[in-house]
Amino acid sequence: MKRVAVIGAGPMGLACAYDLIKSGFNVDVYEADDRIGGMSAHFDFNGLSIERYYHFICKHDTALFELLNELGLRDKLHWRDTYMGYFFNGKMYRWGTPFALLAFTPLNLLSRLRYGVHMFYSTKLRKWQHLEKVEASTWIRQWIGAPAYAILWQRLFALKFHHYANNLSAAWIWARIRRVGQSRKSLLQEQMGYLDGGSQTLLARLQEIIEAQGGHIYLNTPVASIHKDHASNQLSLSVNTEARFYDKVVSTIPLPFVPRLVSDLPVEHTKKYSALQNIGVVCVLFKLKRRISRNFWLNISDERIDIPGIIEFSNLRPLPVNLVYVPFYLPQSHEKYRQPDDYFIQESTACFKKLNPEFSEADILDVNVSRYGFAQPICPPGFAQDLPPIQSVLPGLYIVDTSYYYPEDRSITESVQLGREVAQMVINSE
Ligand SMILES: Cc1cc2nc3c(=O)[nH]c(=O)nc-3n(C[C@H](O)[C@H](O)[C@H](O)COP(=O)(O)OP(=O)(O)OC[C@H]3O[C@@H](n4cnc5c(N)ncnc54)[C@H](O)[C@@H]3O)c2cc1C
Repeated sequence: MKRVAVIGAGPMGLACAYDLIKSGFNVDVYEADDRIGGMSAHFDFNGLSIERYYHFICKHDTALFELLNELGLRDKLHWRDTYMGYFFNGKMYRWGTPFALLAFTPLNLLSRLRYGVHMFYSTKLRKWQHLEKVEASTWIRQWIGAPAYAILWQRLFALKFHHYANNLSAAWIWARIRRVGQSRKSLLQEQMGYLDGGSQTLLARLQEIIEAQGGHIYLNTPVASIHKDHASNQLSLSVNTEARFYDKVVSTIPLPFVPRLVSDLPVEHTKKYSALQNIGVVCVLFKLKRRISRNFWLNISDERIDIPGIIEFSNLRPLPVNLVYVPFYLPQSHEKYRQPDDYFIQESTACFKKLNPEFSEADILDVNVSRYGFAQPICPPGFAQDLPPIQSVLPGLYIVDTSYYYPEDRSITESVQLGREVAQMVINSE
């Protein structure tokens, strides 16, 4: 039986391993972390198992729905009417429907209409190739005008992408607008999905099946290097200073790690991996006595608040307590990224007070801070050409991460789909 190693036990690695096992391969999964799940992993928030980072499901997450069906988990998927808000310069506005847009008085009527037309166009557009080499902020300004861009997008881009804000692919931004914009019950009502028990429900079922069929998932086991072993004609993985041999290897770890992992790659490929940029995230999660608002997603554009938005997760998934995520997207090189947890907790608390004057510190029941340096690949115009091929020059070694489903944004559904596609590539190569 052919031996395959999958590196990374996030949704992509697990979906890939699941398909390979089903096709009769002997599969080992290696995970550096002490748990499965990668960016979608859960943690024990003092009695509540919850994702370290917020996770919602959209209406067109087809690959995820197919996998849930296959795993007998479709009844765990639920939809809920959700609400968006916009906190602009000290005032809370409704957001996310045509009526909300018309009532958004900080913009003049023409700007509101132009914004609406751009949203409508973005949700209907199917072919994106003409946007691949276009710069996103220019593209948005052309559609909605400079004043609307300044109010609705500029601060959001600056807080989320920092010095990359004016060099992003329009195709990538369009795909993000479309995914969320299409997740609706009707023109007037957004709907988002969640799984009973959270992402862990899916992850645990994949793990269960992989292990039941003879696969192994090694936690706390980072792969240090991969090279071609000419004596055995196999790929050799260095794991805990021991060499382990495989016929095929699929790496799903963030691409910036690849040059360290594989030294036998051509210089032009190594340069491409090394040139890729990522944004990290520091994510504060609160248990609160009261809601901040009725919104699931609240965008913020206010000079006094350096946070692009908050996610009131319990306004999506019913939970025994109010749960609010506050993400700070920061390049790892940003000095703020190195600030202690308390710094982010204080900043989030000050933000809550501005959003809801009734909020006070006494409303905080519990708080947790998670950090991850590779939360988001940065996709500049022309990004599709920046990636080396998935099948690397080392025969049998496949290298992917969330960048490879560009222009789609990182998501569980896209990771599942790509993981399964790579499994198929391995199967077809036999
Ligand atoms: C803040 C935030 C919010 C998000 N919100 C949503 C959302 O609402 N909806 C949604 O669908 N998705 C969301 N996502 C994205 C989703 O979590 C990811 O798309 C998905 O988890 C990616 O899975 P993956 O397996 O491709 O990669 P990852 O999750 O990155 O998994 C890669 C794994 O490789 C492991 N690894 C790294 N180096 C090594 C090594 N040397 N050896 C072995 N293992 C290694 C890592 O520990 C990790 O577990 C969000 C992500 C973040 C960060």
